[in-house]
Amino acid sequence: MINYTERISLLMEDIVARVPTLSFIDMRRVLVFARAGRTDAEGAYATCHCVCLPPSEPGYYFWRDRATGKLTRRSEWFVTKSPDVRIGNTPIDYMISFALPRFCDQQLSRSRKQVYYQGEPNWICKLDTIVHELYHIDPERPGIRRMERADGSYSANCHGQRFFEDVVGMVRQYVGSNPDPAVWDFLQYTHEELQARHDGIIGTTFRGFPSYPQRYTEVLDPQPQASEEMTDCRVEPVKVPRIETTFTEDDLVIREFLPGSSRQLVRKGKFQAA
Ligand SMILES: [Zn+2]
Repeated sequence: MINYTERISLLMEDIVARVPTLSFIDMRRVLVFARAGRTDAEGAYATCHCVCLPPSEPGYYFWRDRATGKLTRRSEWFVTKSPDVRIGNTPIDYMISFALPRFCDQQLSRSRKQVYYQGEPNWICKLDTIVHELYHIDPERPGIRRMERADGSYSANCHGQRFFEDVVGMVRQYVGSNPDPAVWDFLQYTHEELQARHDGIIGTTFRGFPSYPQRYTEVLDPQPQASEEMTDCRVEPVKVPRIETTFTEDDLVIREFLPGSSRQLVRKGKFQAA
């Protein structure tokens, strides 16, 4: 079997070692995991999730009377927090998820990336996606990279034209550095071809699949002192679903990804050696 998420992690290590713009990334603090995504369904190929953002400023929802402007109702104070994800003693800052088998079947000919990669092999669009996700990691502060506009201000849109062009430049830089084909050659194959070659495609997922660590809401306890206006109105509880907020390697499991479904594998030696 081929462990697809492990292969992507190893490829990312090679990319950050060869592409200076990405050399600040510590791959020990980046976790690659798989999500389900059928080839024939719409959706992202991959996503970069930041799990190192500090808690938000305390806030609350409120309602005002339209005529008098008086506060009529508000929620309890709450903050939003990042989940705590760590592997051994190492905290994870970013997680990058890949939709399987959709990512394996990405086609250059059906992508708008085509204009950048005329006449190049199909797998280049998968390499482009991998570099794209790494480029989302902000080098200066926790979070998703903000793109600077020509006038020096920051754009709220992290996907400007320059972002795509920078990614193409880094893909060329990586390929031009003559990486060992053993590191990237798995990108050449579709899901069906990998299935035939390796007798199965597996990847790391979270035990609660399809769920995975996400930012969550926490009600402040104790609640901050409120102004007079705020004590006069009705206070509604914030409904917080019971979810896991800390994750370790014990929450990771291996799943096999089939064309239209996936199944968790029981951890046995033979799967770890894939
Ligand atoms: Zn993106």
